[in-house]
Amino acid sequence: MAGCSPPLHRRPRCSVEGNASYVRVIVKASEPAVNSWPKPRVVISRCLGFEACRYNGEIIREDFVGRIEPHVEYVTVCPELEIGLGVPRDPVRIVTDGKALGLVQPNSGADITDRMNRFCREFLDGVGEVDGFLLKTQSPSCGIGDVRIYPATEKAAAIGKAAGFFGGAVLERFPDLAIEDEGRLKNRRAFSHEAFRAGALAAGTC
Ligand code: SF4
Repeated sequence: MAGCSPPLHRRPRCSVEGNASYVRVIVKASEPAVNSWPKPRVVISRCLGFEACRYNGEIIREDFVGRIEPHVEYVTVCPELEIGLGVPRDPVRIVTDGKALGLVQPNSGADITDRMNRFCREFLDGVGEVDGFLLKTQSPSCGIGDVRIYPATEKAAAIGKAAGFFGGAVLERFPDLAIEDEGRLKNRRAFSHEAFRAGALAAGTC
């Protein structure tokens, strides 16, 4: 199969015919393009239809996630479960002292910044080849830019927005990949990333 190595998403389906003395690689260019592409591998927040792992024990049902599921390979992750927070759990929030961001559980006062940073580093080191990320919007862990930041652990008004800890680590590590949150993907105009467009096209949603 050495002759079949164009980049992912442009890779046609190949087969090998012949015997030991003559091997012919056949590229089935006439097949429908979407059906012949390898499935995009997409890391997805686990609470988006896979497990009731939100802080309050809920699961989020998004039609889009299920519709493209046959056409992508999902890798699910829940960073808050992975660092040992149970379900249900005290909610977490991002706080800042004006210099750095921290991740805390206001009810217990626990500072989980280091645990989360360590998990993000280890997970992204070991995740292997991926084509994109589909993450929960507004989550202090999974959000990719719309997460409220607070000036203190105690009750206070938000003073800005940023990416969550996992979402931010993903953006930093994979700046060229398709990275979306489920809020944006409800909007068809957000189908600009190839990994998601491949799944959406196959599912007939765009
Ligand atoms: S948003 Fe992320 S951390 Fe929160 S429940 Fe969903 S997968 Fe877990």
